[in-house]
Amino acid sequence: MNLATLTSTEARKALDAREYSALELTEAYLDAIAKKDAEIHAYLEVWADSARGEAKAADEMIARGMTQALTGIPLAVKDNMLIEGRIASSASRILENYVASYDATVISKLKAQGVVFLGRTNMDEFAMGGSTENSAFGPSRNPHDTTRVPGGSSGGSAAAVAAGMALVALGSDTGGSIRQPASLTGLVGLKPTYGTVSRFGLMAMGSSLDQIGSLGKTTADAHALFDAIRGYDPNDSTSLPDGTLPVARNMQKVIGVPRAFLKEGSDADVLAQFEKTLAALQSAGYEVRDIDLPNIPYALAVYYIIMPAEASTNLAKYDGIRYGLSTPADTIGDVYSKTRGTGFGPEVRRRILVGTFVLSAGYADAYYRKARAVRGLIRDDFARAFESVDAVVTPTSPVPAFKIGEKANDPLAMYAADIFTVPVNLAGVPAMSVPSGTVVREGKQLPVGFQLIAPHGGEETLFRIGEEVEKLKV
Ligand code: GLN
Repeated sequence: MNLATLTSTEARKALDAREYSALELTEAYLDAIAKKDAEIHAYLEVWADSARGEAKAADEMIARGMTQALTGIPLAVKDNMLIEGRIASSASRILENYVASYDATVISKLKAQGVVFLGRTNMDEFAMGGSTENSAFGPSRNPHDTTRVPGGSSGGSAAAVAAGMALVALGSDTGGSIRQPASLTGLVGLKPTYGTVSRFGLMAMGSSLDQIGSLGKTTADAHALFDAIRGYDPNDSTSLPDGTLPVARNMQKVIGVPRAFLKEGSDADVLAQFEKTLAALQSAGYEVRDIDLPNIPYALAVYYIIMPAEASTNLAKYDGIRYGLSTPADTIGDVYSKTRGTGFGPEVRRRILVGTFVLSAGYADAYYRKARAVRGLIRDDFARAFESVDAVVTPTSPVPAFKIGEKANDPLAMYAADIFTVPVNLAGVPAMSVPSGTVVREGKQLPVGFQLIAPHGGEETLFRIGEEVEKLKV
């Protein structure tokens, strides 16, 4: 088996044909991790022993004819999802030794399938960032060029799959954290419709924006993992009851391009690659139409008000009493401030400050409420666009993988790179990044991603066009 190119779809066939066992497959992945991860640092913890145990159990399920889609598939989990009895730290000092007391719904679903859990992956602390440099435990590296970031915040998950150290991985996406690392490492990354995958047991960042989704080498792999984790969950009050979403329309094969918006800070060769993919889709029978999303230019500002507002509220519970780190002090107030002052890294503290500011009595009307109103307009812009097109497309990231350290001290430059991904979370619609060629930096080929955006519940449209883009091989 060649782990660099193996997909979960191929591994499924090989496992079913008994070409190798789940245990042999798992050993191959553990070997790859042992050889490569000292350099890549995709994992914060590898669960070699329990992975072997799960692989043996999967082999028994297969022998008994109880195989499900992901039985025996070795998978990596982002460090912000709870697995009972395991540390889940969100790559933060404040939760460095926190042990989860229950399984996230996505984890229970995967356990029932007989998946093999390889380990927990590095990420930006509490999913805040786009490079994994905000991890309290050091950055991950991009397998295509180890002087560069793998993107973030699900950068460890992306690096693990791209380096052949996991077949597929779970990520979470609040403003692009699955799609952007997928784009920077040459993978497919899916952010499902808000409410289709349970957030129960996912550490909340921006509750109205967060979704768990899948990372894999192909659309088929991302699709298979999505099918395994989706579904209504009474434990998540924002989970959509099955059957609530509009039934998918027939595809007209029309794609919308918000051209006026694309110029913003994009590298010329990234845009050229995007145009090449569009042209290829056109020759495959798609009509490409210019569309206008008039409120999209405000998306970044709106996101960086709503997300910190929600994050500051969600992080209030890490107070040194309820969970994780506790720094002793003479008064309760000092316990709070010392624990939070040392346990949270600088980016998390920055967002808590911004969040509490935009929610404070004197400013909530000027910032938070206004941002919510504009969020509604952005949602309407997408709804209007989807009256005439099947999907809206953009580059996933305006730039390819950047150097470790390049943007680390410039938060605004880091935020600006989220321009194409954040509108999707504000609208709650599904989107997927698919690889579409490469650009060259310092002699190295760096992957570029093509973002497909569909109406609520339109994942099938994403998979269909995603597979088409894969076949075009731009
Ligand atoms: N890069 C974005 C941010 O820093 C997105 C993060 C995410 O999706 N979790 O907020």
